[in-house]
Amino acid sequence: AHEAALASASGPGATVDGHRVPLLANIGGPADVPAAVAAGVEGVGLFRTEFLFLDDNKQAPSEERQVEAYRQVFEAFPEGRVVVRVLDAGADKPLDFLTPADEPNPALGVRGLRTLLDHPDVLQSQLRALAAAAAGLPVQLEVMAPMVADRADAKAFVEACRQAGLRAKTGAMVEIPSAALRARSLLQDVEFLSLGTNDLAQYTFAADRQVGALARLQDPWQPALLDLVAAAADAANAEGKSCGVCGEAAADPLLACVLTGLGVTSLSMGAASLPYVRAELARRTLAQCRRAAAAARAADTAEEARTAARTAISGTD
Ligand code: PEP
Ligand code: MG
Repeated sequence: AHEAALASASGPGATVDGHRVPLLANIGGPADVPAAVAAGVEGVGLFRTEFLFLDDNKQAPSEERQVEAYRQVFEAFPEGRVVVRVLDAGADKPLDFLTPADEPNPALGVRGLRTLLDHPDVLQSQLRALAAAAAGLPVQLEVMAPMVADRADAKAFVEACRQAGLRAKTGAMVEIPSAALRARSLLQDVEFLSLGTNDLAQYTFAADRQVGALARLQDPWQPALLDLVAAAADAANAEGKSCGVCGEAAADPLLACVLTGLGVTSLSMGAASLPYVRAELARRTLAQCRRAAAAARAADTAEEARTAARTAISGTD
């Protein structure tokens, strides 16, 4: 019966009392679109464009090839939001022709937006391809940069988008604690934020996301991580702008409710997780989500945060 209920669940993401939380998909390219559409997503919250670049590690894909891949995705979401992340090369996703080979600490080196600002030709070509792919389509295109550290980064990205003639909302991923702490400053330039909780956990706890032995510190239930999520969401809400989550945290149904309680405005995840998140949100009120969020933040460890949220969320209003 549980499986049947999940299978039949569809429609937009919302709490039982009608607080809307758009549920979006994380995709790596056109091949992931059918599963996302089948899950009834309201759009794409994270299009990881680096997969297009990983095919050929020697050079960037041609602008024409990029236009074709982007267009296939945009056509699948006629009226929906599609949030595209510009190339996130380096660290766990090295590219021979862009990533310095001799860095002692690649995760703390030239990666993400830093790489693109060092190779403005690659960034301009990608932004022009996105503009061309969206031309004439009703898709609501939003473009965001990975690894934004400060307002100078945000400004440089917005300026690059303008230079490429891109008419899309521009955003910053919050993956570095400095970006969460100074979210309000970034929002003077960008129009939305998206929390990449995988990297945000890595940089908050100084725990390499590729080292399995440090999984405890990568746990998105860590109260310190929740504090940073709250800081970013509070800043966005104060500025009347959106702040989504596109890291793994959004795929955990109970944590999705906690994130909603912290003020996050959309959740993006792999299509397989979406029915579970939708079903959990649909049986909770916004007040319950807020109570669970407060309980989780008041805990001292990830384990205690999870237990406290579970207890708090089932209370009545
Ligand atoms: C993240 O860091 O949380 C994120 C969504 O980006 P990626 O996992 O691709 O680094
Ligand atoms: Mg990341």
